[in-house]
Amino acid sequence: MSEKGKLYLVATPIGNLEDITFRAIRTLKEVDLIAAEDTRQTVKLLNHFEIKKTLLSYYEHNKIEKGNYLIGQLLEGKNIALVSDAGSPGISDPGEDLVRLAIENDIDVTMIPGAVAAITGLVISGLPTGRFVFEGFLPMNKRARKERILSLKNEVRTIIFYEAPHKLYYTLKDLYEVLGDRQIAMARELTKKFEEVIRCNLSAAIELYGNESPRGEYVLMVEGISEQIIEDEEKRKWDEISLEEHVDMYVNQGMSKKEAIKKVAEDRGISKRDVYNSVMVD
Ligand code: SAM
Repeated sequence: MSEKGKLYLVATPIGNLEDITFRAIRTLKEVDLIAAEDTRQTVKLLNHFEIKKTLLSYYEHNKIEKGNYLIGQLLEGKNIALVSDAGSPGISDPGEDLVRLAIENDIDVTMIPGAVAAITGLVISGLPTGRFVFEGFLPMNKRARKERILSLKNEVRTIIFYEAPHKLYYTLKDLYEVLGDRQIAMARELTKKFEEVIRCNLSAAIELYGNESPRGEYVLMVEGISEQIIEDEEKRKWDEISLEEHVDMYVNQGMSKKEAIKKVAEDRGISKRDVYNSVMVD
């Protein structure tokens, strides 16, 4: 049997064609076949760099059938490049399914790194970049969207979303309703002539897009909840029961009195001595 081919995930520009790498161009020239999320978009890119290659479409609605075909080709020894509409394949596109299939079939997978819209937006958002979480597109279904946002209510890391312009306004409203008036950075047309980042809070963002229609694709960065707010809420929770009730709660759960006092002090952010004095005196 012939040797298996290799699957190359090739990052392409998210707007500015100068953002392609030398290695990406060489790889696209050398592979046997290119699978593309949007062939019309990729044709423009290939024409620009004078790359003549067989193109095959691979996107959400044909990924099962085409995925199996591509794996067949790889098993027969063909080298294949996968490109997304823009940016890094495998992030918020069906690339991840092809990677999984390739790995299951013991096919080598590699990536030619380059632009990622999420990271490009995050870096210039002005929000903390040390810890972040990528959420991609929110679910379309109204209830599922609300539930997803609710699951992020206590997220302390910066949260990144992708969003299309026609859904932006509703997304901003849902975010505001569930998360409150957080800071947001809305990055659009990244790397293009009209690149813009609007940094404001969610209520101002809603007001802005209540008056004008958004244009271009967006990356949204929303600030995480502050650790202080979580701590304050935790502490407030304990205000509803007395120190004795709090200690008894842990004793009833099987802790010794000493352990319970220590835990109560931690929960409330007060000293063990204060808990001890109050519980023992009463
Ligand atoms: N895999 C690509 C990546 O991560 O770079 C993204 C693919 S996803 C289908 C497309 C989304 O990426 C868009 O809806 C938008 O949210 C974001 N995006 C892509 N290019 C962008 C740009 N130039 N400016 C802002 N957002 C962009």
